[in-house]
This record gives sequence, C-alpha cells and structure tokens, in this order.
Amino acid sequence: MVVGAGTMGVGIAYAAAGAGYDVELVEVDPQQAEAATAALSGLWDRAVERGKLAASEAAARRTRVVLRPDVAEVAGGPDVVVEAVPERPDLKAAVLAAAEATGPALLASNTSSISIGALAAGLAHPERFCGLHFFNPVWAMTLVEVVVGPATAAETTAAAVALARRLGKEPVTVRDAPGFATSRLGVLLGLEAIRMVEDGVADAADIDKAMVLGYRHPVGPLELTDVVGLDVRLDIARTLAQAYGDRFAPPALLERMVAQGRLGRKSGEGFYRWEGGVKQ
Ligand code: NAD
Repeated sequence: MVVGAGTMGVGIAYAAAGAGYDVELVEVDPQQAEAATAALSGLWDRAVERGKLAASEAAARRTRVVLRPDVAEVAGGPDVVVEAVPERPDLKAAVLAAAEATGPALLASNTSSISIGALAAGLAHPERFCGLHFFNPVWAMTLVEVVVGPATAAETTAAAVALARRLGKEPVTVRDAPGFATSRLGVLLGLEAIRMVEDGVADAADIDKAMVLGYRHPVGPLELTDVVGLDVRLDIARTLAQAYGDRFAPPALLERMVAQGRLGRKSGEGFYRWEGGVKQ
C-alpha cells in the first residue's frame, strides 16, 4: 500500500508495479486521484512508445495498481506500507497510525526530513517502522535512503534494504538524524541559491549554470527546487530549522512564492516556467 498519490506516491507505485507488486494507492483528493491515474498511464504509454516495455507487460502493470480513497478501504492486510503524504508531522502521524492498523510487516515513511523516532512515537510496533526515502523522479533515481529509527528492528532494516533492491534501487542505510544524508546538504544549497536570487547576485539561470558548469552538478539548485516543489522544500526547511537553527530558516522569497502558488514544475511556474513538465 502506498498512501498519498502525489509526485512521490505515483513514482513509488509505478516502481512497485514494475517489480511485480500489487499496489493499493490511497489518495484522499479525488482530483489528485484522477491526475495520478493519468500520470501512471502516461508513464506506461511512454515506456511502450520508447520500446522499453512490451505493451502486454505495460497492460499487466496497469492492472496491479488500484486507487483507493481511504486507507480503511484497503481490503486485506498489505505486506508493506509506504506513506507519501505531505511533509507535515501531524498528518503523517495520523496516516501512519491508520496504516499500521492494517497490519503490515513493514511500515515506512518517505519523509525527507522528519525524525523517524518522532513519527514512531504513536505507533504500536515502532520496531516495524523505518524511513524509506525515495528520490524524484522515482523511476529515474536509483538512490533510496533507508532511515533507521531508535526503535527500528534489525529485521525491519534488512527487509527495507531488500525491498529497495527488489524495486531496482541502490539503498544506503543512514541513522535518524534530521535531513538524513541527502536533504540536509541538498536543501541547504537550494536555500542559499534562493538567498542569492534575493540578494541580486545573479538570476536563477546563471546561478544554476554556475553550479552545472563550475561544479559539475547535473542540474542547478534552483531548477532542482522547481522539480522537487517549492512547497515541499519549504516544509523541509521549516523542519530542519527547528533541528539545526537559522541556517535552514526559509528565505522570504521562498515563502512568498509558495503563498502565490508558484510551486515549480507542478504548478507551471517557479524559478522557471514549465509547460507539460518541460522547462521553457
Ligand atoms: P505531494 O503534495 O505531491 O503529494 C502528497 C499527496 O498526499 C497529495 O496528493 C495529497 O492529496 C495526498 N494526501 C494528503 N493527505 C492524505 C491522506 N490522509 N491519505 C491519503 N493521501 C493523502 O507531495 P510529494 O512531493 O509526493 O511528497 C510526499 C512526501 O515525500 C513528503 O514527505 C516529501 O517530503 C517526500 N519527498 C518528496 C520528494 C519530492 O521531490 N517531491 C522527494 C523525496 C521525498
């Protein structure tokens, strides 16, 4: 079961169906559920068009993913739950409690920054819970961080590592420190790049170009912020600011852009303009 059919939930469901799992994909927002179905169809269609997948295999994978409006509507206990709802501790805690009640052997959160120990506090079986941090877009990114909380059992970590491998991913195992091994560094770079736009050091395209050509980053920090979602990065920055202080304080420009609905690629505008998911 994957809970939350947004950017990440769709990607995780796609990867899981590709690895042979039957997937219950839970989404509370009916419009988003429709968008998720369309996004999954588009992914399979493109894979067939590009000759990466036989039409019969794509058809089989489609049938493995079923959209549900509520965790309570998932019949039978899923073996594995991956929670991918927005980065808000209270929401995640409530969703995880409801998901745990379905009796999975492995319960995981795709959180980018929230403490696994804190999320485990309300669970009956914190030993079965860990972080499983996928990257966007899930079908293209091989890294998965397996985040080991204070109560996570060794068997749970081993099961999460095995699951990541079965999904075709490369797992790294990290301790439950805020921001894990990736967000702590990556978000800091993105926030500093936004402060540089605020300070008028250079425009977004030139800041990105400098990091791509000067540091061989495959994509600049502002374009990456657009791809991830400005709202998602704002939530992470707030969480990390609580843990590490002012160096993660969200820049005013980020707060303003999110308030204006300029969320990056998914809304069509962020630091760049996007049409059909393509940077203009
Ligand atoms: P998103 O906003 O695109 O999707 C979240 C989805 O969850 C939405 O469709 C929302 O309607 C749904 N939802 C909300 N409450 C729900 C509930 N109670 N039950 C079922 N569905 C519910 O967010 P996202 O970008 O997919 O991020 C999800 C998680 O993954 C966050 O924790 C985020 O930090 C993490 N993450 C995001 C990225 C990224 O690049 N976007 C990368 C790695 C990890």
